[in-house]
Amino acid sequence: SYRKGGYHAVRIGDPFAGGRYIAQRKLGWGQFSTVWLAYDTQSSKYVALKIQKSAQQFAQAALHEIEVLSSIADGDPSNSKCVVRLIDHFKHTGPNGQHLCMVLEFLGDSLLRLIRFNRYKGIELNKVREICKCILMGLDYLHRELGIIHTDLKPENILLFSTIDPTKDPIRSGLTPTLERPEGGTLNGGSTMNIIEKKLKRRARRAVANISVRRASMGGGGEAPKSARCLDGIDVRCKVVDFGNACWADKPFAEEIQTRQYRAPEVVLRSGYSCSVDMWSFACTAFELATGDMMFAPKSGQGFSDDEDHLALMMELLGKMPRKIAIGGARSKDYFDRHGDLKRIRRLKFWPLDRLLVEKYKFSESDAREFAEFLCPLLDFSPEKRPTAQQCLQHPWLNLRSSGQNEMQGQSNVDVGMRNLQI
Ligand code: ADP
Ligand code: MG
Repeated sequence: SYRKGGYHAVRIGDPFAGGRYIAQRKLGWGQFSTVWLAYDTQSSKYVALKIQKSAQQFAQAALHEIEVLSSIADGDPSNSKCVVRLIDHFKHTGPNGQHLCMVLEFLGDSLLRLIRFNRYKGIELNKVREICKCILMGLDYLHRELGIIHTDLKPENILLFSTIDPTKDPIRSGLTPTLERPEGGTLNGGSTMNIIEKKLKRRARRAVANISVRRASMGGGGEAPKSARCLDGIDVRCKVVDFGNACWADKPFAEEIQTRQYRAPEVVLRSGYSCSVDMWSFACTAFELATGDMMFAPKSGQGFSDDEDHLALMMELLGKMPRKIAIGGARSKDYFDRHGDLKRIRRLKFWPLDRLLVEKYKFSESDAREFAEFLCPLLDFSPEKRPTAQQCLQHPWLNLRSSGQNEMQGQSNVDVGMRNLQI
């Protein structure tokens, strides 16, 4: 991809925007861009520099993203609404062409990394609540105040940050630019670092050492650290990022939106969509945080497609889809008969959410019931019945406290999604 029309190759120390920004290290990448930690010599702060591929269609997508990000920034002068902030944008010409660049506030690791860091065992419910509140505040702002649908909400696109700037004070923030295991392995993999970066790392390692000492005295043993503990006592927040696919609610343009596992049924069925698709993805994300597993991981099999498996998985967890909804989409005829039954997957193995949480994920009865009561309305097959982000913020589950004794005990070996075996 590092050719004409593709990514721009960056070396550490490279200057951008006439020398204002200096590249420090790679933070991540997506289909359209690479994202770099850069030092802003004007504000003396670290920023994230998103450098788009140069070809025409990528430039167009970046212009759209800049437009969306600009209205997000304009509507939130105090930068308190849990959505990433655009600081600046410019063009950069390199050997592969002209690249649009976005300068964003520098945030921490993604929730996906947090889930991995926790070895897919799920995060303590009290932390899940805090993270959910932030995501909902972000969604409420986007939906109600701006009329923007994100359309690609998922753990990867939600980044942690500490209210204490980790680049200024990694020790107090406890949250370094990357989550590190006390054993010393970075989840980011090794990359060449310049002097500033090495200094940052050294300070960060000290912070991690403090945390691991605390863990040891709690009898943590040699097992993977619980990030909930690593994040203990830190006011951890998160922000929604990646507006490359976002759209205005009054002019949705793409038919197929969302990453497969977080895709709402009305998108699968092509029945039209609105802001409530983000609420569906939000529920999938909250489940994944709490259990470490994706809520729906559809796969195609003998005689059925991944779309059909997806619909079957939804119904196994949430009950049968009302006939009117099942047959109401442009794609409905491909999957459902006129009675509203799936054509090719005839036997469904129902496993309601609260039972799944108890039986597979070893939640206590009360934790399971309360969490399911929070999630199920968001997963209503009828999009207009789903609570809005604003309504969801009022839900009592967000203000409950679990004792911590009811944390997951580890998963049983029961497996779902083995449709091929059922047939
Ligand atoms: P794409 O649109 O190409 O998917 P994203 O905006 O999702 O690009 O960014 C790609 C990756 O870069 C993210 O998954 C994340 O790891 C990293 N990243 C993006 N924005 C930031 C930021 N503001 N601070 C820190 N890392 C970021
Ligand atoms: Mg992305």
